[in-house]
Amino acid sequence: MIYLFHRDPFARVFEAEITAQGEESPGLWRLELSDSAFYPEGGGQPCDLGTLNGLPVAEVKQPSENGPLLHFVKAGGPLQSPVRGEIDWARRRDHMQQHTGQHLLSHAFFALFGAYSLGLHIGAEESYVDLRPDGGPLPENALFLAETLASELISADLPVRQWFPSPEEIKTLPLRKAPDAHMNLRVVQIGPEAVACCGTHLPSTGQARLILALRSQASHGNLRVFFLAGERAIERARLGARAAAAAAAGLSCPLSGLAAAVQRLREEQRQLARALNRERTQGALLALGQKETFPLAGERVLLAELEGLEPRALQEAAATLPGGASIACLFSRLEGGGVSAALARAESGGQSMAALFSALAAVLGGKGGGRADFAQGRLERFDEAEATRLIRDFLNTKD
Ligand SMILES: [Zn+2]
Repeated sequence: MIYLFHRDPFARVFEAEITAQGEESPGLWRLELSDSAFYPEGGGQPCDLGTLNGLPVAEVKQPSENGPLLHFVKAGGPLQSPVRGEIDWARRRDHMQQHTGQHLLSHAFFALFGAYSLGLHIGAEESYVDLRPDGGPLPENALFLAETLASELISADLPVRQWFPSPEEIKTLPLRKAPDAHMNLRVVQIGPEAVACCGTHLPSTGQARLILALRSQASHGNLRVFFLAGERAIERARLGARAAAAAAAGLSCPLSGLAAAVQRLREEQRQLARALNRERTQGALLALGQKETFPLAGERVLLAELEGLEPRALQEAAATLPGGASIACLFSRLEGGGVSAALARAESGGQSMAALFSALAAVLGGKGGGRADFAQGRLERFDEAEATRLIRDFLNTKD
C-alpha cells in the first residue's frame, strides 16, 4: 500500500480508521491505520513522531516493505476510530533538510569524483553518508569542493519532484543507478538527476538552506562523510563563528590567523611543560640526595614520595639509585588518581624488583611490571608506612 507520507510528503495532519490495535506492553498501544502521514524508520531517516488523537506517538515502523505500518502510541487503553494524526513538523522538516542535503552532497561527490553513495544515517547530532570512491582516492579538498557544488544547487533553488513513475516512464528517467525490479518504485528528481528513494524530501533545494561537509573518515574500505544541512548547519556555523571570534579576540589575532596562533600556543606550551619537568626532576634529585637510606636484609633501601614528577622522570630518578642506595623505591601521585611507582636496584643479585612490584600491587592494587633490576607501574593507592612495611616483609623473605 502507498501511504499518505509517500503520496503527499507535506501532509502534516490526517484522519484515518483504525484497522487493528493491541497492547504491545503496559501503556503502549500498537495501531495499524487505513492510511498515515507518519514516515516509518527507514533508509537512514528516523521515524516521525507526533500524536494520534492527542496521544504521543513513540515510534513508527514498517517491518516489511509491503507490510502494515505500525504506530506505537502511549495510551492507557484502546483508541477510538477515526483517529486524527498530527506529525511533529519541526522534527520532520529537519529530517527532510538532512535527507535532501544528502542528495545534493551525493550528487556532488558523484559528479566531481565518481563516488557512489551507499547509505545515509541521520543522527540526533550529525548525519553521515557512506561513499564508495570508485574513481580512486579523493583529493584533499574534496569535502570543500563537494560542499561548494551542493551550495550552488541550494542557491539555484531547484524543484524537487518525488513520485511513483509508471514502468514505461522509469525507462525514460535519467537514473544514476539502474533500479532493481520493483513493484512501486519511488523516484526523486532534483534538477537533471533522478534517483530511486523512499525518504521524504523538501519541495525545493533552496529550503535545505546550508550544507556543511564537516569531516570524513575511512569506514570499512569506504569513505564516511559527516555533514549537516538546514537549521542544524546554520546553528553549527553560527556556533563556530562565535567560538572562533572569541578565540581570536583572546589570542589577539585576526580570524584568518587563528589556526596558526593555536599551533604556536601549543608548541610554546609543550616547551614550557618540558622545562617544568626538567626543573621538577632536578629538584626531586636534589631532595633525594639528602634523604637517608635505611639498612634492610643486607640492602641500603631508599623510599621516597616525590611531588608532581611524571612517570618517566620518576623512573630516571630511581635508576640513578640516589644517596648510594642499593634499592630505590620512588612514588609520585598521578593527576588522574593513583600513584606512579619506580623500583630500581643495583645490579648485584638480590630479589627481583618485578616481584617486589607484584607484592606491592597485590595489596595496594594496580598494574605494572619489569625486570629483576627495574620495575615500574601504577598503584591504585599509596601510604608510605604501609609501603615501607610491605617492602620490609618482601626483602626479609628469602627466595
Ligand atoms: Zn531521498
